[in-house]
Amino acid sequence: MAQNPHVIGDEWERDIMRIAVIGTGVAGSLLAEMLQGHRGITLDAFDRLAPGEEAEAGTGLNVGPNAMKALRLHLPQRHAAVRAAALPWSRWTIEMADGERLFDLDLAEVAEEPGIRLRWSALYDVLRAPMAGRTRRGCTLEALEEDAKGRLVPVLREGGGLIRPGGYDLLVAGDGRYSALRAITLGAPKSRLHGVALTRLLVPDASGAPLDDYGQWFNGAARLLAYKLPGGSAYIAGSVPLDAAEAEIPAAARSAGFQHALYTPPGRIAPAMAWMRDRLVEHAPRLHWARLQESPLERMALDGRVLLLGDAAHAMLPTLGQGATQAVEDGVLAGAVLRAGGGPEAVARLRDSRVEWVRQFSLEASDTLLPGFSPLAREARAGSLAKSGADFMAQLRRLYTEVPGPEAVSAGLVEQV
Ligand SMILES: Cc1cc2nc3c(=O)[nH]c(=O)nc-3n(C[C@H](O)[C@H](O)[C@H](O)COP(=O)(O)OP(=O)(O)OC[C@H]3O[C@@H](n4cnc5c(N)ncnc54)[C@H](O)[C@@H]3O)c2cc1C
Repeated sequence: MAQNPHVIGDEWERDIMRIAVIGTGVAGSLLAEMLQGHRGITLDAFDRLAPGEEAEAGTGLNVGPNAMKALRLHLPQRHAAVRAAALPWSRWTIEMADGERLFDLDLAEVAEEPGIRLRWSALYDVLRAPMAGRTRRGCTLEALEEDAKGRLVPVLREGGGLIRPGGYDLLVAGDGRYSALRAITLGAPKSRLHGVALTRLLVPDASGAPLDDYGQWFNGAARLLAYKLPGGSAYIAGSVPLDAAEAEIPAAARSAGFQHALYTPPGRIAPAMAWMRDRLVEHAPRLHWARLQESPLERMALDGRVLLLGDAAHAMLPTLGQGATQAVEDGVLAGAVLRAGGGPEAVARLRDSRVEWVRQFSLEASDTLLPGFSPLAREARAGSLAKSGADFMAQLRRLYTEVPGPEAVSAGLVEQV
C-alpha cells in the first residue's frame, strides 16, 4: 500500500500517524490527496467499488462556489482539473410552469467565482485521480477489530475473503450516506424524511433543449430543476410532493400519465417545462427515485479514533446543492487541520457549526417543496419571490464565501490551544 515517501527511518516511525480512509468518494478522495506524502502521516485508502465500477455515474450534479473556493485555496491543481471537467454554474433562475420569471441571480453577486455543473462520474474521476493506483479498490468495510496496541483494524471484504490491512491510529469514514463505519461505531443514523420524492434523469442528447444554466420551474408544489452538462447532455430532477413525511412513494407516481399531469399547468406551458415534462414522460419507467431526507450530524466515534466526513457525517437536503459541496469542504478542511497537527476534535470545532447552519439554511430554502405548503401556484410563487430579498442574498453570500484558507485554519488551531 501507499507509503509516505518522507518516512525513512525508525526514529520517525515512532511519531508516524497511521490513517486509513474508508470510502474514496468526494470527501475521502480529497482528504487522501491533502494528506498523501505529508510528513509524519502514512495513509491507506479503501473503496468498495472495483475499478471501472462507478455507482451513480449517469446523472448530473451542481456544486456550489464555496466548494470551488475551498479547492482554490487548498488544492489549486484539483481546482483547475475540476473546472476543466465541468461547465460553470453562473446563473440561477426560478420560473413558474407558464414561464413567469420569479428569480434571476447572477452568482457573481453573491460568490467569488461560479460553481460547477458536471456528471457525477466526471467529478469522481477527477477527485480520485491523484490516489489512483494507491487506493485499494473492491474492498468493502464489514467490521472493526483492535490490534494488540489498541489500534483500530478495519475488516474488509475483498473478493470472496476478508482482509485485515493492519492497525490504524485514525480511521476516516468517507463511505457516504449509508456509512458502514458510522453504523458499526455509532449505529445507523435515523434519517429524517421530508414528504418529498425526488426523480432524476440524464438526457444524453439535449442539443435542442430550451435550457442551459441552472433553472427551476414550479407547477404548484411540484418542481423541475434542470441544466445542461458538458458533452451536450442535460440533467433533469423532479420533486414529487407526498401526502406526509413518512408516506410511501405511490406506485402510480412512476407512470407516464402521473408525470404528465404533475408537470402540466392549467394554461400556457413554458417551452423548457414542456421539454422536461416530455422527457420525464418518455423515460418514466427508468427514472431514478430517491427520498428527500437528511441525517443528524456526527463527527467522531470511539473517542476520536474515527473521524466522519461528508455524507457519513451529515447527509443533507439537496435543495441548495450542498451535499457534495459540503463533502468537498469537509475533505479539504479536515485535511488542512490534520496537516497542521490537529485532530478530529479540531475538525469538529472548525466545521460543525457551519455544517449545522448550512443544514438549517437548506431546510429553510426547501420551503416551497415541503408539506405544509399547500400545492397551489401562489404558494410556490411567494416562496420563490422571497428568495430575491436581502436576507436570502446575505445568507447565500455567507454560504458561498465563508471558507477559511490554510492560514486561517492554522491560526484557528493556535487559538484553540
Ligand atoms: C438525488 C440526489 C441528488 C444530489 N444532487 C446533488 C447536487 O446537485 N449537488 C451536491 O452538492 N450534492 C448533491 N447530492 C449529494 C451528493 O451526491 C453527496 O452529498 C456526496 O456524494 C457525498 O459525498 P461523500 O464523499 O460523503 O460520499 P460519496 O460520494 O457517496 O462516496 C462514498 C464512497 O464510499 C464508498 N463506500 C461506501 N460504502 C463502503 C464500504 N462499506 N466500504 C468501503 N467503501 C465504501 C463508495 O463506493 C463511494 O466511493 C445529491 C444526492 C442525491 C441522492
